Amino acid sequence: MKSRRIFLQKASLSALAFTALPAFSNAKNFTVRKEDKILRVAIMGLGSYGTRVAEAMKESKRARLVGVISGTPSKVTDWQSKYGIPDKNCYNYENFDQIKDNPDIDAVYVITPNALHKDQVIRVAKAGKHVICEKPMAINAKDGQAMVDACKAAGVQLLIGYRMHFEANTLEAIRMRKSGELGEVKFFQGLSGFVIGDPTQWRLNPKLSGGGAMMDIGIYSINGARYMLGEEPIWVTAQETKTDPVKFKEGIDETIQFQMGFPSGAVASCLSTYAMNGLDKFFLNGSKGWVEMQPSTGYGPIKGTTSIGPLELPHVTHQAVQMDRMAAILFDGAKPEVPVNGEEGVKDMKIIDAIFAAVKSGKRVSLT
Ligand code: NAD
Repeated sequence: MKSRRIFLQKASLSALAFTALPAFSNAKNFTVRKEDKILRVAIMGLGSYGTRVAEAMKESKRARLVGVISGTPSKVTDWQSKYGIPDKNCYNYENFDQIKDNPDIDAVYVITPNALHKDQVIRVAKAGKHVICEKPMAINAKDGQAMVDACKAAGVQLLIGYRMHFEANTLEAIRMRKSGELGEVKFFQGLSGFVIGDPTQWRLNPKLSGGGAMMDIGIYSINGARYMLGEEPIWVTAQETKTDPVKFKEGIDETIQFQMGFPSGAVASCLSTYAMNGLDKFFLNGSKGWVEMQPSTGYGPIKGTTSIGPLELPHVTHQAVQMDRMAAILFDGAKPEVPVNGEEGVKDMKIIDAIFAAVKSGKRVSLT
C-alpha cells in the first residue's frame, strides 16, 4: 500500500510540478520537441558556481552555453577552448552592453558577487537580453525591485537561480503538503550553514556580499520556509550571535536565528550560520504527517523521509534541470510550480531586510 502510494505520488508529480507543460516534470523524461527553441546563454562571472552551471549545461536539453562575460582574459580563452565559444560571443565588464547587437545570445546568466548583480542585471536588460541572476538577487529589496522594474521596462524576463524550485523531491514534498496528506501544517524548521574558509574572500566583504551567512546560505531557509509552507510570512524576529568579530566584521552576520510567522498561524524557526558545518536540513510538520529533508538544498542527491515513506525521486543535476525549465519559461511561457521570477527574489530580499532590522531593534518586524 505504502509503495503504491509513493508510486502514485511520483506519477502525479508530472501533472503538478510543471502545469503548463506536464511532460516536463521529471528530468529523466524531459523531451525536446523539434519546434522547441534552444536557450543560448552567456555566463557572466566565470567563478566557482559559474563553472558548475557551465558543466551542468552540457547535460541540458534546451540550454547551451554560447558566450562569456569576464574581466579575466585568461579565463575567457580557457572557456573558449573548453566549451567551443567563438570570439564574437566573448565580452568583458566594460563592453558587455554591446551584447545587444549579438543575435546569437538569448540570455545572460549573472553569477558574480551579490552586490554587483543590480547594475549588471540592469545593463543586460537594457541590452535587450533575458536575465538569469543568481541568489541573492541583490543586497536589499529596493535594489531587487529596481532590477524587476528595469527588466519590465526593457521587455525582458528576469529569472532567479532558484534551482531547488525544480528539484523533484522538493516538489514531491510540496505536493504532499498541498494535497492535504500532511494535514494542517503548522511548523517548519530550516537549518542552513557551513564553516566559511578564506577570510579574504568577497563573501566576507560587505561591499561585495551585502551581508554574511544570511545572504549566502540563510536565504535557503527563508525561501524553503515559503515554498514548504506555501505562505508568505507576516512577521519576523531574529537574534544574532557573533563569536569571531575579526573574521565576521560589521555588516557580515556570522550566525542568526530567526523566526517567521505566517497568516495561517504556522511558524518557522530557522538558523543561518557561517560557523557550523553540516547544516542543511528542512523539517515540515503537519497534523497528519511530516517531511524531513537532509540534505535539503545542497547540490544533491537530496534525501527525504516522510511519515509515509522515503522520498525517492531520482537525482538529476539541479542546474541542468533548472536551465531546461528556464528555457521553457522564457520561450514557451511555462509556469513552474514554485515561481523563479524577479518578484519571487524580491520577496526573499524583503524578508532579509526585515531580519536585519529585527536583529538591530531586537523587536518583531511586521512584513505586512
Ligand atoms: P566566486 O568567487 O567563485 O565567483 C565570482 C566570480 O565573479 C569570479 O569569477 C570573479 O572573478 C567574478 N567577479 C567579477 N567582478 C568581481 C569583483 N569585483 N570582485 C570579485 N569577483 C568578481 O563566487 P561564486 O561562488 O561563483 O558565487 C557567485 C554568485 O553565485 C553569488 O551570488 C552566489 O550567491 C551565487 N551562488 C549560487 C549558488 C547556488 O546554488 N544557486 C551556489 C554558489 C554561489
